[in-house]
Amino acid sequence: MSETIFTKIINKEIPADILYEDEQSLAFKDINPQAPVHFLVIPKKAIATINDITPDDREVVGHLSVVAAKVAQKLGIADEGYRTVMNCNEFGGQTVYHIHLHVLGGKPLGWPPYTAKMKEPE
Ligand code: AMP
Repeated sequence: MSETIFTKIINKEIPADILYEDEQSLAFKDINPQAPVHFLVIPKKAIATINDITPDDREVVGHLSVVAAKVAQKLGIADEGYRTVMNCNEFGGQTVYHIHLHVLGGKPLGWPPYTAKMKEPE
């Protein structure tokens, strides 16, 4: 798998606004926030997409939600609520091929979340 910008953030080769770090994971603010609070939780292990998660990754992938909740609490959005999203491949809107949990909050979020128009059948 080719290296992504998130590997550079993990290795501190490029800066990020880091909110939490441990042996397995890193949480940092999204550079292009889609809500008043928008951060990403990533595993340090480079896994390209949800499709590439193996049974051996269960612990680390579950850990991402534990970290999401911990950081949400720290940022004061836990009680009002927030959304976690993991996009997969093109139709899921994935642009960085190193899995990441988006955590969005700080305002009421609409549902359904997508805005892209479906193509009309010909
Ligand atoms: P996705 O489209 O689900 O793959 O999400 C990738 C996210 O990474 C987007 O929300 C981007 O704004 C965010 N992003 C890309 N580069 C950086 C960066 N250098 N620091 C923080 N967030 C980034």
